[in-house]
Amino acid sequence: MTIEVSKIAQGVEPSATLAMSAKAKELKAQGETVYNLSVGEPDFNTPEHICAAAAAAIAAGHTRYTVASGLPKLKEAVCADYLKRFGLEYKPTQCVVSNGAKHALHNAFFATLNPGDEVVLPAPYWVSYAELIKLSGAKPVVVETSQETGFKLTPDAFRAAITPKTRALLLCNPSNPTGACYSKEELEALAKVVVENDLFVVADEIYERLVYGGREFTSFPTLFDGLQDRTILINGVSKTYAMTGWRIGWSLTPENVAKKISSLQSQETSNPCSISQYASIAALEGDQSCVETMKVEFEKRRNYVTSRIAAIPGLSAPQMDGAFYAFMNIKAFLGRQYGGVQVDTSKDWCLELLQQKKVATVMGSAFGCEGYARVSFAASMETLETAFDRIAEFVK
Ligand code: PMP
Ligand code: GLU
Repeated sequence: MTIEVSKIAQGVEPSATLAMSAKAKELKAQGETVYNLSVGEPDFNTPEHICAAAAAAIAAGHTRYTVASGLPKLKEAVCADYLKRFGLEYKPTQCVVSNGAKHALHNAFFATLNPGDEVVLPAPYWVSYAELIKLSGAKPVVVETSQETGFKLTPDAFRAAITPKTRALLLCNPSNPTGACYSKEELEALAKVVVENDLFVVADEIYERLVYGGREFTSFPTLFDGLQDRTILINGVSKTYAMTGWRIGWSLTPENVAKKISSLQSQETSNPCSISQYASIAALEGDQSCVETMKVEFEKRRNYVTSRIAAIPGLSAPQMDGAFYAFMNIKAFLGRQYGGVQVDTSKDWCLELLQQKKVATVMGSAFGCEGYARVSFAASMETLETAFDRIAEFVK
């Protein structure tokens, strides 16, 4: 007998970022040298003092269930961090700690969206947003943005996408996959539309500590009083502290929403790993110089990748102001043959680049934007150098 999978499960696509990374790892396991610019995760080790806090937590016997919504001390550390850096006042009862920001997003959508609700989703968008919104029964309403405007949502395009069913805007700032970073003025213009239409915002700010060129990051709810009540703020330790495998992220929301997210989480997963939670307290409360050190290194790589893209005729990318991705326009390289293989789409291009040159990237189509390919520059300088030599050879 074949167990038939559910209608909901039938509609779920695997994460393309993780799928491309798995392909790269598969080739590596076969003995190939692969230059993996697919998945976005810092290549640095988690700083030592954070690992030491985890070891100490194990030694102290902190290996049991914690409060399902997270350790009170970690919630306090999250709130203290927001107060210190942004002047935002959140109570620990507004914070739920989950198994990564991805899980925090899933919980937030489940706790707030009803079937038929619409969420405005600017494209290109990070692969998981559309799937997670659909899983909650709601509908992502994709609004295209263009390279000419730096892939940023404009108030007019936002307004045009709003219908009586619209509940929320998903705003990823700085953006995965484009590296776009909104200015305070740009955010204010969008926030005005949010208020005029009585919407809320899911503000994914997981890359907020990684902004370049001396830019100042503006956190969405700091724009004006009252906006905190309309914001679901998402963040975590994965990118800031090179802690992708520890699986800790959180949401900061109005209290009624946090309460429901807690209930959901208590039923579906219970607490995120106790040891990772202790490590995250050390990350937030400990010496922050590791964050700056990693950022300086990312900025060097971003400048290097910018120059390599500019040096390949036909290739371009918008300016990367934040995060660690370059969203390369590959339109000039589609509709032709590579080693006898016809390449028409971004998916074809990325698969052939991996097959023929062993460089792993992610197709723009996975981010809702055909004609592009995303590279992550959270990779060593040596990897980036060879990968771009090979990309240059590939498109020649
Ligand atoms: N949001 C964005 C924009 C991301 O790129 C990622 C990367 N994984 C996440 C959320 C989820 O991060 P994590 O689950 O590792 O905390
Ligand atoms: N956010 C990262 C990326 O976009 C990690 C993979 C994932 O969770 O999708 O590559």
